[in-house]
Amino acid sequence: RAKARGKSCSQIFDKSMHAHVMAQLQLENDLRQAINDRAFQVYYQPIVALKNGQISGFEALVRWPHAERGMISPAEFIPLAEETGLIIALGWWVLHESCRQLSSWKKRLPHTRDLIMSVNLSGVQFVQPNLIERVERILRETELSGSNLKLEITESVVMINGESAVSLLDQLKALEIKLAIDDFGTGYSSFGRLHRLPIHTLKIDRSFVSRMDDPQSSEGWGIVKTIVSLAHYLGLDIVAEGVENQEQLAQLKAMGCEYGQGYFFSRPVDAIAAEALLTHTPHWIDPSLSSAS
Ligand code: C2E
Ligand code: MG
Ligand code: MG
Ligand code: MG
Repeated sequence: RAKARGKSCSQIFDKSMHAHVMAQLQLENDLRQAINDRAFQVYYQPIVALKNGQISGFEALVRWPHAERGMISPAEFIPLAEETGLIIALGWWVLHESCRQLSSWKKRLPHTRDLIMSVNLSGVQFVQPNLIERVERILRETELSGSNLKLEITESVVMINGESAVSLLDQLKALEIKLAIDDFGTGYSSFGRLHRLPIHTLKIDRSFVSRMDDPQSSEGWGIVKTIVSLAHYLGLDIVAEGVENQEQLAQLKAMGCEYGQGYFFSRPVDAIAAEALLTHTPHWIDPSLSSAS
């Protein structure tokens, strides 16, 4: 009997494995097609200076509107895009499109000339042999200055690539491009290495920010405070990811955290809605105060 049960279990397993593999293959096909058709969209989420509520820039976040499945989240297709190498074409498209968008805003809206566009760079893209040339070319084609661009990479990408990562970051810095470590705290940075990297910004991972005002987790606040001190000690700016409420915002301000990003300010939005945020006083700024700041 046990054997019969065992067999039926493994059949169920095979069946669900099969379904999973088929679904992945279908997704990969659709992804390849979507890249050919340029069927993606870039959404923009504001990064806000906590001292005055002004938008300092946006993070470009790719979106995939899918015919049958609606908007597919990048968490679902970025890993597949990385496995299949499709991230390379997709990543360059996102970089080009977001640089083009900021360049267009700069031409039409003079007060946006110092905005910074933050773009995620996958580890797969980071080790492409022509990385520097590609980035330079996109800046040239979109007539954007390197100082308007920030590239986000994760700790592990930097740590795995050792000295060659330092050299690549140095070359990007020579183009005046700013560099951020994304999802900081979830990887395994060595303090000594971090100290030697030519980076500007640490982005504290959302998981720490969301635990900050949770009375169940006393360490949450302490971790964020420690990361902020570490960053300042290293001369880096801090962006807190995933700011969702007023309590978190108040605590972050009190710690001296410079920037915040999260649903409290705005979800990632399309280019039209992002432009509206730039041309109207955003809801998180008290209009009676904004003339004073
Ligand atoms: P990330 O770079 O850490 O981006 C921040 C993610 O947190 C975004 O998810 C954003 O929508 C979400 N988020 C922002 N504020 C809040 C908040 O207050 N609460 C909550 N619950 N979530 C918030 P998204 O857009 O789904 O992207 C997920 C990840 O996919 C990104 O994480 C990034 O690693 C990757 N990704 C997105 N676009 C690209 C891209 O163009 N290239 C590459 N290589 N990766 C990308
Ligand atoms: Mg990011
Ligand atoms: Mg992040
Ligand atoms: Mg994150």
